[in-house]
Amino acid sequence: MVVIRGATTINEDTPDEIRAAVKELLEQTEKRNAVSRDEIVSIVFSSTSDIHSYYPAKAAREAGFEGASLFSAQEPEIEGALKLCIRTMLFVEKNITPRHVYLRGAKVLRKDITEKINVAIDGPAGSGKSTIAKALARDYKILYLDTGAMYRACALKVLEAQIDIQSEKEVEEILRVLSLEVKYEDGTQKTILDGIDVSDKIRAPEISMAASTVSRYPFVRLKMAEKQREIASDMSCVLDGRDIGTFVLPSADFKFFLTASPEVRAERRKKELEEKGYEVDFEKLKEEIIARDNQDMNREIAPLKQADDAVLIDTSSMTIEQVLQTIKKMIQEKI
Ligand code: C5P
Repeated sequence: MVVIRGATTINEDTPDEIRAAVKELLEQTEKRNAVSRDEIVSIVFSSTSDIHSYYPAKAAREAGFEGASLFSAQEPEIEGALKLCIRTMLFVEKNITPRHVYLRGAKVLRKDITEKINVAIDGPAGSGKSTIAKALARDYKILYLDTGAMYRACALKVLEAQIDIQSEKEVEEILRVLSLEVKYEDGTQKTILDGIDVSDKIRAPEISMAASTVSRYPFVRLKMAEKQREIASDMSCVLDGRDIGTFVLPSADFKFFLTASPEVRAERRKKELEEKGYEVDFEKLKEEIIARDNQDMNREIAPLKQADDAVLIDTSSMTIEQVLQTIKKMIQEKI
């Protein structure tokens, strides 16, 4: 008999969240340990004292684990304990070395055995995502993946080919053979398109809208999302984008959605572009940002959207440091 441990967290004490979290935890435990359901003899659950709305054991039965004997208990209230956490012990009739499974925020309980943590930061243009994601990755000494750069590189290739960007078919043809690499030099992301470093070129103002246009096409999106998932499955990282929490990594450990008023966002973009030597008309830039957000929010596949379990932060009147500290505090609270 072997005992496999596990834990996960929920965002709110609701029966639906408990059902989903228990199902995910048990299925991951089975999968990672290659055990079949009839090898599970018993499952013991404990939940923190802030969970009242449902029995994890009942959720397990509903998820099809009714063959094992199931038991739930509530833990005492411990100061500083991880909030809204469900723990499991699976007793398994199999001779294996157990792989314990810690999901979502609960990974921080067992840094010794959990291989990686993914943080998703989504939001519209100019909401401060990239600045925050970069700083967070620096402080936690993990990788920062700027997913926007990948769509920008696709857009650059399309613009250079001088085809009709509104034609999905033509874009697909051009991007079918695409060599896109993301490399890191001194901790800075370099975007390599067909062997050439295009990291600076993709920041040109005309690329922004073109990136938004090509990112609507399912062919492009699926290809980019696959690359992003590959990178995130290999290592701990902070990813910024539009659809990380909803589509690319729906079970990211931490999810944040940053936003700010259009004026503030346009002002930030203007400053950023001017620092790079571009001349900018504020009103035109603001209009373009609004149009780009609309296009990003209204596309059919993986639109710009806050995930149900993401924390919303309006950064309009916050400094970078304040946003960074707010996010770090929330991550720390789960540790
Ligand atoms: O973040 P950035 O402004 O560099 O992104 C450029 C464009 O790429 C966005 O307007 C959006 O249309 C697209 N994008 C996306 N999904 C992501 C990241 C960027 O659709 N994860």
